[in-house]
Amino acid sequence: MKKDSKNTDKTKAINYEPLLGKVFYDEIVKLFTSTDTYREWMIEPFIIDDYVYATDGHALIKVPKKCVINDYEPIKESIRESIARIMPDKKQLKYTIKIAELKEAITSIPKIEEFRNVESDYTCKECEGNGEVEWEYEGYTDYFDCPVCNGDKKLSKNHVIKTGRKIYDKNHFIDIKKSRFKEKYLSKIVAIANYIKSDSIILLSQKEPNSMSLFSMNDIEILIMPINQTDEQSVAKHFA
Ligand SMILES: [Zn+2]
Repeated sequence: MKKDSKNTDKTKAINYEPLLGKVFYDEIVKLFTSTDTYREWMIEPFIIDDYVYATDGHALIKVPKKCVINDYEPIKESIRESIARIMPDKKQLKYTIKIAELKEAITSIPKIEEFRNVESDYTCKECEGNGEVEWEYEGYTDYFDCPVCNGDKKLSKNHVIKTGRKIYDKNHFIDIKKSRFKEKYLSKIVAIANYIKSDSIILLSQKEPNSMSLFSMNDIEILIMPINQTDEQSVAKHFA
């Protein structure tokens, strides 16, 4: 939630006055929120104790509260408990990945045309756009609504069109140790690294191929859900 400029808390404004070169994490946290309106609590970042979290249900970010400038709301108890359950308690690894290598792995994924669904209208051929058709019964004729377009004069159809953009092929993944990840989340890591000028990320926890992996970059923690591995998937790179 954005701070209301009319009600700015002066103390806070002084504490959080952006110093030259000071990077706030609000933009980073926002990368992990959800746009799914059915899970409303995921649309905005939220507070648990001294940290700000954001999640889309597949990945989660945790940053110190002192590193953000906007005000966020504390989350309800049941969600706080489920997040506490998924955060790995043991950090059994310290596996460093260079951001340059991660970026190179991502850019090696083939790019494909992006399509999107559009609905377009076209004139009803049955009534030729009149909306009415002539009916004849034993020599009597009358006009009724066209049974094809229901009198709307037009019909619509769904089809896909090229957006003109190229996107990474979604069947290509990157393996890190035992787990397989979508490009989408690893690209977020690269974006964060660029933002805070970090050249590496550390894998701290990864219990099973299908359990969440915990990464850290400076004072930022990122939890990512891997995908189920199948033989049909292409792996762009394996960080072993
Ligand atoms: Zn018609």
